[in-house]
Amino acid sequence: MYNYGIAIHGGAGTISKSLMSEEKEIAYKSALQEARDIGYEMLEKGGSAIEAVTLAVSSLEDCPLFNAGKGAVFNAEGEHELDASIMNGKNLEAGAVAAVQGVRNPIQLAQLVLNHSDHILLMGEGALKFASPFKIAMEDADYFHNEHRFNQWQKMKGSDDFQLDHSDKPKQYLGTVGAVALDVHGDLAAATSTGGMTNKKFGRIGDSPIIGAGTYANNNTCAISCTGSGEFLMKGVTAYDISCMMEYAGMSLIDASNQSINKRLLDLGGDGGIVGIDRAGNIAMPFNCEGMYRASRNQQEACVLIYK
Ligand code: ASP
Repeated sequence: MYNYGIAIHGGAGTISKSLMSEEKEIAYKSALQEARDIGYEMLEKGGSAIEAVTLAVSSLEDCPLFNAGKGAVFNAEGEHELDASIMNGKNLEAGAVAAVQGVRNPIQLAQLVLNHSDHILLMGEGALKFASPFKIAMEDADYFHNEHRFNQWQKMKGSDDFQLDHSDKPKQYLGTVGAVALDVHGDLAAATSTGGMTNKKFGRIGDSPIIGAGTYANNNTCAISCTGSGEFLMKGVTAYDISCMMEYAGMSLIDASNQSINKRLLDLGGDGGIVGIDRAGNIAMPFNCEGMYRASRNQQEACVLIYK
């Protein structure tokens, strides 16, 4: 049996302890723990890595604290456009959706694309047409309305500024949720979901639904989910970059992910982090900013962490 395990994130950014109330910290930690354990229990029962990451990310999408699903940020039109992707390391099958509206759990729609479409990435109205026979849960705008996010947007509305979650500085690109897992069969999977950036316009899409940039899984190497400045994660092709360093240069997950996040992404000017797991069950969660909401669990240990 493989050394199964899971790691999840709820976004990285300028998350400083001095600005966090005890109450808020407890709420974040318990949401992370719940999502992690929902995924872990699936692995424990012998379920697949794909099922585990879908469950964990769905749980984070249902929690208003995170910038995905229910908690998604507002775009420049005061709406929510959601991006998500999922990849199976066993066969490199992938599914993704971009700029979809009204979908309660975009990761589940991405999984339907993986399972039932010859394509990998579907966007907007087209993705919803594809979804209609599957009767996925749809929600109206009220479901996604959140006072905190609305106020974040009010500060930027009408300007050219944009901001990602967990950041007080405009033009920073942080937020998002994701999960990676190794199951008892030795299969890896990765999933990522986001609302993108507050006040984003022009149909902007970041790294999260882009296979290789925000999400990647390959049984020969690792499963990776990224969070951070999407444009830079796309330039760095970060998730695939880590897999490549492992596959072609024989690096460990820890070394490859540190190189990609703490050197390459920084050199490009990007902030962010990843959660990753390799085929031996080793877990890495590096980030190059103040904090990253994250949690992991395998048969040896479990943790829920926020700061460095
Ligand atoms: N990477 C995501 C994006 O650029 C955002 C994030 O991680 O917060 O859309």
